[in-house]
Amino acid sequence: MERNLKYPKKVRKELRQLAGIAYDRDMEKALCELESHFRRWRAGEISPHDLNNLIHKHHDGISRELWKFYNLSPDITVPRSVVDGTIREDEISSEVMEHIAESIAFYRKQEDAINENPPDFESNEEDISGFYDDDGNKLNPDLVTKPGLCLLCKNDTDPNEEILCTLNRLDQADEESEFQCEAFEAKD
Ligand code: SF4
Repeated sequence: MERNLKYPKKVRKELRQLAGIAYDRDMEKALCELESHFRRWRAGEISPHDLNNLIHKHHDGISRELWKFYNLSPDITVPRSVVDGTIREDEISSEVMEHIAESIAFYRKQEDAINENPPDFESNEEDISGFYDDDGNKLNPDLVTKPGLCLLCKNDTDPNEEILCTLNRLDQADEESEFQCEAFEAKD
């Protein structure tokens, strides 16, 4: 997605490159996991049908999730990748860092807040999609205005997409330009 025209061209280019590197690394990690199942199959630990199911699971699960995530704007994916440890800060130029340092700090605080107060997945599903401001206060995603494009998108009702969709909406909440999303999929 290329919508951050507020950034200089050089910065946008580096952000795209970093997002590409992070995507490659995350995909490599997922493929290593898949490869381990091929070894189990070769060793006779699982059947060919088990392996086939695991290949489908990889394709419909992590592979799809990564594709969707990395279709978000690089100014979301790169800071998130830094917080996840996929991209190291020393791989980022000081010029780009100047533009995304605030986002990295935001996502880091969000991560810390979740780690300090892990969601109770069994008793309170709402916390799964918890979002936090810079002070660690929990935000209510329902207060984020839902763009018209989302109402036409089949991902809008998919609970698995909620976190990425809300991140995307939060990221563009203060912008006057039209909401954009590369992960849009028209309802049938
Ligand atoms: S347009 Fe994008 S943010 Fe909106 S529901 Fe679809 S995938 Fe989610």
